[in-house]
Amino acid sequence: MNRSEPPRVLITGAAGFLGSHLCDRFWRDGYYVIGMDNLITGDLNNIAHLFKEERFEFYHHDVSKFVFVPGPLDYILHFASPASPADYLRMPIQTLKVSSLGTHNLLGLAKVKQARILVASTSEVYGDPLEHPQKESYWGHVNAVGPRGVYDEAKRFMESLTMAYHKVHGLQTRIARIFNTYGPRMRLNDGRVLPNFIRQALNGQPLTVYGDGSQTRSFCYVDDMVEGIVRLLHSEYPYPVNLGNPEEISILDFAREIQSIMGREVPIVFEPLPVDDPRQRRPDISLARQLLGWEPQVSRREGLRRTLDYYLKQYSCKK
Ligand code: UDP
Repeated sequence: MNRSEPPRVLITGAAGFLGSHLCDRFWRDGYYVIGMDNLITGDLNNIAHLFKEERFEFYHHDVSKFVFVPGPLDYILHFASPASPADYLRMPIQTLKVSSLGTHNLLGLAKVKQARILVASTSEVYGDPLEHPQKESYWGHVNAVGPRGVYDEAKRFMESLTMAYHKVHGLQTRIARIFNTYGPRMRLNDGRVLPNFIRQALNGQPLTVYGDGSQTRSFCYVDDMVEGIVRLLHSEYPYPVNLGNPEEISILDFAREIQSIMGREVPIVFEPLPVDDPRQRRPDISLARQLLGWEPQVSRREGLRRTLDYYLKQYSCKK
């Protein structure tokens, strides 16, 4: 890359939660940012502020169809996909296509443009894990034909195809295995646990804990995740790397934490546990620490407070 213009990055899923934060970060870092989204779960409001900027453009396009972008490209970040279990259960075929056909199209584009590509994989490749915490070397425990299989297997295929392009074509590839991430711009109706709890608390409704709430997750604040992704992109490591916050909490304790942070007297109700809901999840981030010098900086309490401030502002605007 010895052009005098700023480096050019294509970000798919640009109007989504992580994608929009990545657009902001790369734009702030001086890149020319090309956003792409088919808007089935994304929201243009997340990137509306970038539309007036010179170093930003947007394509309304479904990446599972042939992808064409004029001009040079230095980097591709493939973040398009429904990411909430409720969304991918509603759109199983699109979910399968975006991480299989979509990944294939973007790897082809990366090859033509000689761009480095980072794909957004997921802790779901570990399924309902039998090894805890999860290291990159763990092969996972996934039900291919269960309701979550459409996401999990598509992402596993994404990893496999990405490695094949690396090996066969010498493509510069990076694979981020992203664990539960939260922060401003999650859709309040996307069905995930934090948006649900926040929406419920704001509306004075009970918090819905699925099962007995003893299942665990580990939640990473979005700014930490974005930093990890940027560092991984610029590293020289082509194999999968876990990115997430290793601080683990049961969902019931998480509901109690939300109650206390919101300061609202909302009760907790218990609802049935979804099929194949992973019992426990916590990333082993030794590799990211060693390779990228990265670890999360924002405590859950601080991250939740920032997230809540965002939704309170949104909520008061709507009233
Ligand atoms: N969950 C819950 N109440 C909700 C939504 C989710 O108890 O209103 C649980 C869900 O069963 C899972 C955990 O919270 O055990 C995290 O779910 P989420 O959909 O956020 O993402 P996942 O980590 O399962 O992909």
